[in-house]
Formats: sequence, C-alpha cells, structure tokens
Amino acid sequence: MGFRMANIDGRAALVDGVHYYDVETTSAGGVPSDPMEALTYADELSELQATLDTSEPSGRLADVTLDAPVPRPRNCFGIGLNYADHAAESGMELPTSPVVFTKFPSCIVGPTADVEMRSDGVDYEVELVVVIGLGGKDIAKKDVWDRIVGLTIGQDISDRPVQFSASPPQFNLGKSFDTFGPIGPYLVSPDLVADPSNLRLSTKINDEVRQDGTTSQLIFDIPALVSYISHITTLTTGDLIFTGTPDGVGVSQGKLLQHGDVITSVIQDLGTMTNRCVRVSDYATP
Ligand code: ZN
Repeated sequence: MGFRMANIDGRAALVDGVHYYDVETTSAGGVPSDPMEALTYADELSELQATLDTSEPSGRLADVTLDAPVPRPRNCFGIGLNYADHAAESGMELPTSPVVFTKFPSCIVGPTADVEMRSDGVDYEVELVVVIGLGGKDIAKKDVWDRIVGLTIGQDISDRPVQFSASPPQFNLGKSFDTFGPIGPYLVSPDLVADPSNLRLSTKINDEVRQDGTTSQLIFDIPALVSYISHITTLTTGDLIFTGTPDGVGVSQGKLLQHGDVITSVIQDLGTMTNRCVRVSDYATP
C-alpha cells in the first residue's frame, strides 16, 4: 500500500515508473484534482496506486514539468540546528528545545524551479520535509505518524546576510524570499519509506558533494517535532515541517551559491530534486 503523488499543472497525479496518472480521471471523480484537497484522500490514493497496472496512463513524466507537490500549505515551519554536526559547524550549542522558525508559505516552489538570489550570501540546506495529513492540536508523540500524509525533499534556501542582519537574529525573512522553498519531486506516503528515522540525504552543487548525512542524526525526531509544534499551534492538512539540515552548508566552507549553480538534492526513497540558481537584482537595504 501507499502512494507517490506529484503536482502536474495544478492537478494531483500518481506516479508509477515513467508514467503519471491524473487522480481525478483515474478515480473517475472519486478523488479531487486539487493537490491540497487530494491530501485528505490518503486511503483512496493508496487504493488507486494499487490499480495503476490496469489503468491508462495520463502521460509520461519526461514530458511534463512538476510543480510543488504541496503548493499552498497554510503554515510552513523550519527547524534550526537539528543535526549535531551542523550545530557544531555553525559554532552553536546543541539546542535544548527545538529552534522553530517560519518559512512563509509563499516561498514554496516546485522541484525544478529556479532559485532567485538577491545577494551573494545565499546558501543551500537539504532537508527531510514532513507533510501533515490529518492535523489537530496536542498530538501525542505515539500518534504522530498517523497524522503525517507524506514525506518529500526540501531545500531550506537561506540568505545568510538577511538571516543574521538583525540582532538578535530573526531567521524568518532570510529563509522566505520568493523561491526559497523548493520541494518535491513527489509526496511519498510514509508506508513507502523503509525507515524515515534513517534516510540518507545529500546535496550536490554542480558535481561536488557538499552535504551527506542521515536522518538518524536528528536531535529532535519527527514525533518530537510534530508533537511539540501541535501543542502550540493547530496543525492543518498540508502544513509543512522542514526538519533541519546536516553539516556541509556553504557558509561554513566559504562556498555560497553562485549564478548558474545547480543544486541536486537527494533523499533515499524520495527521489531527486534539481534547482538552478539565478542571481537577480539586489534587495533594498534598510
Ligand atoms: Zn534549515
């Protein structure tokens, strides 16, 4: 059981091999086409995925451009310093409670979107992204996996000068420039992932591997993060949590992103996401 969902021209589609299957068409109207609405039909999507062998494909993945699998989350959270090696390279103490910030939902873009940079201080951070299914309040750790509809790859792109310009630092703006939240390529239901607590994740910039870690290094694991946040704010279907990045970010190596760089993000069982960096105009200084 389980399903692998993409967003093609604003319509939810299931993916199998080289083909995609529009969910509304394939389900004869049983599952809505809107990718946000489709998230509330996880059981139906799993059943539909199991029938794809005998269904007519809607087309070939190679012929289409994928949009963000979760295009309009109500809330989007990021977790800072959630890998010990990354906290160390940042010169920070290990956090004793989760460092939670906002990525504005307006920064979310698809898995092949260009990253538009407005300074020479922009950085990459590959992250496992959790997608909330049935939301709610005060979710117990033991119940968290029942509330997660899927996992996907994310890049928590960060403009370091803006992230650290205020004192004390406020991460939200520097991590929320338009295009700073590529996610995808697919939303993968948790039952198709062998072990979410031990997934290898990496970033390559052009041909150079910069990050290579595993989610087993998370300081606050997924049940802890979802439970903690849900005791503060009600979680809603489609809310996203970027769960933190392993070591190897550019700022710690003096290797920030440059115009034309290609970011390749890979997470085991979830696929590969490729985004090109484009240096656009500068932002206004206050
Ligand atoms: Zn991050």
